[in-house]
Amino acid sequence: MTRKVVLASSNKGKLKEFGEILQPMGMEIVAQGTLGVEDADETGLTFVENAILKARNASEHTGFAAISDDSGLEVDYLQGAPGIYSARYAGSGATDATNIEKLLDALQGVPQEKRTARFRCVLVCMRHKLDPTPLICMGTWEGLILDAPRGEHGFGYDPIFWSPEFEKASAELTSTEKRSVSHRGKAVSMLTEQIAGFLR
Ligand code: IMP
Repeated sequence: MTRKVVLASSNKGKLKEFGEILQPMGMEIVAQGTLGVEDADETGLTFVENAILKARNASEHTGFAAISDDSGLEVDYLQGAPGIYSARYAGSGATDATNIEKLLDALQGVPQEKRTARFRCVLVCMRHKLDPTPLICMGTWEGLILDAPRGEHGFGYDPIFWSPEFEKASAELTSTEKRSVSHRGKAVSMLTEQIAGFLR
């Protein structure tokens, strides 16, 4: 029998990625929007808390196990900002372009050796809304913040994140290259290894 798992996101790319992983394991992944679930308020102070809030909200409203993710960029020179506020760094109407502009302004004149940063991704799976031991999978990607955007691929801060592995900006990588080194790729691998046993 196929087991339904709800994805606490309306991002089509994430739905496709998780669908490809879970289908061979006998699971069907459904976006929370399809089931009428509204986004949870991200009121946590950590990636882990926000991912749990999202998964709990999806599970509470559907009765299914839920998967969520929370991610962001930490810049050392800015004491970890934008961090959990990465999506809304430039304010409530922020876009990728305004977020990048604000970050480049904040780092203007900062030398390369002080521009260290990392992407973080936290994936959470909860078996039910009161699950006291959720599965938590984390991934990190270390790099540097460039002083101007490069590349056309990806989203968010990809045009200003330098990958030391490829010696290219993240937005210059193919999606396969990016997944092989990225925070999300690592967290997804961990989830893939553990989810079947976790949901058994
Ligand atoms: P979330 O959807 O609440 O997890 O917000 C994550 C935010 O962090 C995104 O809106 C991006 O600004 C940023 N971010 C996370 N992962 C990436 C990535 O792989 N590339 C570029 N930006 C990312």
